[in-house]
Formats: sequence, structure tokens, C-alpha cells
Amino acid sequence: MATVVRTCVEPALPCPKKRRLESEDGEKPRPWRIRLGERAKGIRNPIREIMDTIAGKENPAKPLVSLAQGDPSCYPHLRPSSEMVASLSHAVTSGLNNGYQPSQGSARCRAQLAAFFNAPSRPTLQPKDIFMTLGCSEALSHCIGALAAPGSNLLLPRPGFPLYQVLCDYHGVEVRYYDLLPNSGWQCDIGAIAKLADENTCGLLINNPSNPCGTVFSREHLVEVLDKATELRLPVIADEVYAGMGFARPYVSCASASAKVPILSVCALSKRWLAPGWRIGWVTVYDADGAFAEAGVPETLLKMCQVSLGPSAPLQAAIPEILTSVPDGCPWHRDVLAALEASARCCVRRCRATKGLEVAAEPEGSMYLMVRIQPGVLDVEDDVQFAGKLLEEESVAVLPGQCFLAPGFFRVVFAAPVEVLEDAWDRIEEFCRRHVRVKASPGPGPCAAPPEEVA
Ligand SMILES: *Cc1c(COP(=O)(O)O)cnc(C)c1O
Repeated sequence: MATVVRTCVEPALPCPKKRRLESEDGEKPRPWRIRLGERAKGIRNPIREIMDTIAGKENPAKPLVSLAQGDPSCYPHLRPSSEMVASLSHAVTSGLNNGYQPSQGSARCRAQLAAFFNAPSRPTLQPKDIFMTLGCSEALSHCIGALAAPGSNLLLPRPGFPLYQVLCDYHGVEVRYYDLLPNSGWQCDIGAIAKLADENTCGLLINNPSNPCGTVFSREHLVEVLDKATELRLPVIADEVYAGMGFARPYVSCASASAKVPILSVCALSKRWLAPGWRIGWVTVYDADGAFAEAGVPETLLKMCQVSLGPSAPLQAAIPEILTSVPDGCPWHRDVLAALEASARCCVRRCRATKGLEVAAEPEGSMYLMVRIQPGVLDVEDDVQFAGKLLEEESVAVLPGQCFLAPGFFRVVFAAPVEVLEDAWDRIEEFCRRHVRVKASPGPGPCAAPPEEVA
């Protein structure tokens, strides 16, 4: 037996004193003194810190329009299908789904997901390759946690989803950023990936379709990135929560673009199925050369699943019907993509017509657009001030690029219907017109007049 019973004679550990009943100065009773967990205390979400400086500051005279929150279900035109809702409802009323499920998830649910996410160029996906999680966020946490060997680092996209950094900090993984290049349609800087990787790099995280860039990588670009990962022997964490959400270009999964690199793909019902509040997601293990199996990655993912015991049983029970009722290309899915595309086009058109703003690259999928604030045109210091003033004056909320490590940009969520977006862009345009920087002039005169005051 390897169990060591530590006793007070062991010199390495200070002997804890017996808990006292009275306070230090002898007065009774002793005060409560609650201490906090270092790891919990250390959690910092940069998005929240930036948002807290501008939150609640909207103009009380104008109704708030939020283009800030990445929740596709905010407006009624994007809703889970009636079949999805009926499946879930049945799973509850049947009375058959009140019990604990296996930690990895119900076998029936995983079998259906394995069939849905099978990549033809790879060995047939099995139920054992799927791990059910509480949304895509927990799926990401499990993947990063499983690869988080001491001293390791992970390559993350910049701009990128802020949760990646939060999870790396939590699991003690150093973060290194490779850039997505705005002038090349936000494609990955592949050269940077090669330069950043070292012996301690535990993986490459790819997010496609992208939050916040709205890009959908072409198969060719994905192949190039994955070839580099193969050459460098970097396993891939593929955040594919926007799978099936390409409208300007078909979505290609990492697993189907290359059969040579081991991939942990994460997804959820949150975006493509428009149900982030249902909190169900999964990890799909696409091994290559048996690399994950040899390292014990699946066993480690299972251990992580044994902590929360996975998503609720009715949701898991409903997954097979949900997946088969709204396949890619069904009318409901086509309508969702058509609505997103119309919204994206509206944003691009309005942005291009607004002085001081510029579309970096046209969105091809997901539900985001990155807008560049042209340097020197508007009298705002940076993207945080832009977002703050836009909210204060026009009650339009957008997220400053700094939330995604992209200063000089802001992110627009185009999950709102076109009428709402037109109203929001009227106000953004008005705001920019008011804030066009006044050219320096030799003295007071008509040219130096301040921009029109607003009521
Ligand atoms: C929304 C989102 C997630 C988190 O999804 P949940 O299922 O709600 O946890 C993960 N990654 C990206 C890129 C997202 O936009």
C-alpha cells in the first residue's frame, strides 16, 4: 500500500493546531474567518472587466439595442425548432429520464452524435469517442484540462473567444497567441504557429467558424493549418460550436479536412441549434496514429466527466431526435442561415456606408462581424471609448475589440433581425457623423467649428 499516514513527527509539514474555540485575544466566541480557494479567486474574465466599465450607461432617452451578447436566441425569429422542443418535452413527460446517466453520457445519445459527426476519411466514430458536457464551455475546459501537463503552453487564436484564456489560467497552462490576419480574411498566420511552438506546446486551438471574426475557413486553408499541426506534432482542439453555420461558404470540420492529426472537437446545442440555455455540449475524440489513446486522453476526459456527471438526463435523451429532426439543409436550418445571412449583409452594407468605419472581412458564417475603427477619423481614443460613448449617447451596445485582444475593432452580433439592425446602424451612423474629428485649422473659423451639438 502506498498510502502514507502523515503524522506530526514528519518534519516537512507544520503540525496543524487543534481548532480553537476562542478568538486570538481570548475573547469568546472566536470570529468567523473564511478563506478562499486560490484557483477560484484567480479566475479573471477580461470581457467582464471591460464590460463593467461601460455597463448600465445607456442613454435613458433611447431604448437599448444590444449587439453585444453572443446569444442567438435573443430575438424571436431565431428559436429552436418545434420538433426540438417536442423531443425535450417528451423526454421529461415520459418519466423515463429522471435518473443519473453514465458520467460519459447516455450510450444512445453518444451513438447518435457519433453518427452525426462521423468524418468519412477517418475510422468510423464510436460512442466511446463522445464525452457529454455542460455546454461547449465545459467541453473546452475538459480538453484543456486533459492536455494541461505541468509547464505546458497552448496556442490560441487572436482575436479569439476570451474563455480560452480563462480556462488556460485555471488549468495552469501558459497562453501563446497566433494572429488571425484581418487583411487576409482573418486566416491563421501559419508562420507564427511554427515560431510559437516549442517542446512544451500541448496543442493548437482552432476556432472555425470564428467568434468574433465571422469567418469560415476554406478547406484549403484548413488543410494548410492542419498540415502544419501534423508536421509540428501538435494535437488540435477544434472549437466547432458554430459547425453548420456557414452561409457564404460551406463549413468544413477539422476532422474531415485532415485524417493525420489527432483532434478534440467541441460542440454544443448552443449555436447551430439555437439553445445555449439548454447547457448541453460534447467532446468528440478523433484520434490519429493512436496518439490520444497512447497518452491516456480518453481516460482523462472520462475522469473530468466524473466531476459534474454531465448534462441533464432529459436533454441527453432528446439528443437523438433533435439531431435527426433538423439535419443540415432542412427548412428550419435553411431559414436560420438565410436570416443570419440577411442580417450579415445588412451590417456590411451599413458599415461600408458609415464614415470612420470599415469592414475588415465580410462575415461568412457564425453570427459576428468585426468592424475596424479607421484610425484618425473619429474623435474617440480607442475601441473601449468608442463602445462606451456609443452606449451612452445612442444606447447601442457592442463589444470593444480589446475584449478579444483586437484593439481598434469592435464586434457586432448580427443575430438580431434586419429591422432591429437597421435601427441600430442608423444610430451608429449618426454617432460617427457627430464624432468625425475636426481638422486642425490655423485659427477660429468655420472649419474649426465643433461638430453639431446633440440634444
Ligand atoms: C458560445 C461559445 C462557446 C460556449 O458555448 P456554450 O455551449 O454556451 O458553453 C464556446 N466557444 C465559442 C467560440 C463560442 O462562441
